[in-house]
Amino acid sequence: MYPRVIINPKKYAYNVNYLIQKAKEKNVSIMAVSKVYGADEELIKVLNQSEVEFIADSRIRNIKKIQTTKPKVLLRIPQISEVDEVVKFTDISLNSEMKTIKKLNEAAEKINVIHKVILMFDLGDLREGFYYSSFDVETIAEISNLKHIKLFGIGTNLTCYGSVIPSLKTYQKLALIKESIERKFNLKLKIISGGNSSSISMLLKGELPSFINNLRLGESLIVGKETAYQKQIDNLYDDVVILEAKIIELKIKPSYPEGELGFDAFGRKQTYEDIGNIRRASLAIGKQDVDHNDLIAPPGVRIIGSSSDHLIVQLESDLYKFDDAITFKLKYGGILSLMHSEYVEKIYV
Ligand SMILES: *Cc1c(COP(=O)(O)O)cnc(C)c1O
Repeated sequence: MYPRVIINPKKYAYNVNYLIQKAKEKNVSIMAVSKVYGADEELIKVLNQSEVEFIADSRIRNIKKIQTTKPKVLLRIPQISEVDEVVKFTDISLNSEMKTIKKLNEAAEKINVIHKVILMFDLGDLREGFYYSSFDVETIAEISNLKHIKLFGIGTNLTCYGSVIPSLKTYQKLALIKESIERKFNLKLKIISGGNSSSISMLLKGELPSFINNLRLGESLIVGKETAYQKQIDNLYDDVVILEAKIIELKIKPSYPEGELGFDAFGRKQTYEDIGNIRRASLAIGKQDVDHNDLIAPPGVRIIGSSSDHLIVQLESDLYKFDDAITFKLKYGGILSLMHSEYVEKIYV
């Protein structure tokens, strides 16, 4: 059945083991992030067989189905409506709202567990976290008073909304918070979680400050990429998950539409380039499955555009014929949407 993604757990294992080793050399533990592939069972098995310390996902629905003996981490700040599930199905959650932490405490009390929290600090990227410069350290005292909550550590998230690249200057802000908490409350924070795949470049160059002892990695494991500079990492695989889609029409047609132009199928004004007649193929995959900008076309194939159910490409040679499948490598967003589309078959090799 097409379209289909071909998933290679062995290549994933290679990427995972490589980065775990690199992290280990720097005393950094790893939370492997499974949200991009919807906590796919075969890929979770890879994590179970690896030395990765934690498995993390942003959604409780994914976490519920993960079979593992490793601690499970909820990455997205919990919704009040899901606190009961959070304390039941996860060991650790990332948090930034005292109101939510109190609700987690009540929920944990009900089932008599201790739930661990990592307090998130916003160092300027402007997604989650207490804003570093206005954090009231007395918040820590409030958390200490909650009998069913344990402050497991602190963390930050960079290069997500604000595109802020990790740097010594930015990490210094987190170091100051760590020191002020530890000094004032005479405690030692177990986890200082320094970020995601955008911190890999600093890790590999040996530039990650030594107080950071944890990273949460998704993209670098699945596409072998560090995300601060968008560089491929050493020999890591960029094709753990690839897409195959079939050519359902192949004709020589003009490159420029004929007639009066208005809007496309999505109500957008488009621009078209007139390069004369081209070899034009339609593939049976569309925006409903994947954004065509997240596909990496093989040599001889140029992506022109897509609608809900069609991908249109220009074929620059006669390498492909009618009814052939074309194989695409995928960017992060492509894996994210394809792995969650029920219209796309999943094949393991
Ligand atoms: C998704 C996510 C990660 C992983 O990010 P990658 O760039 O895929 O490594 C880490 N932390 C949080 C809070 C996340 O939501």
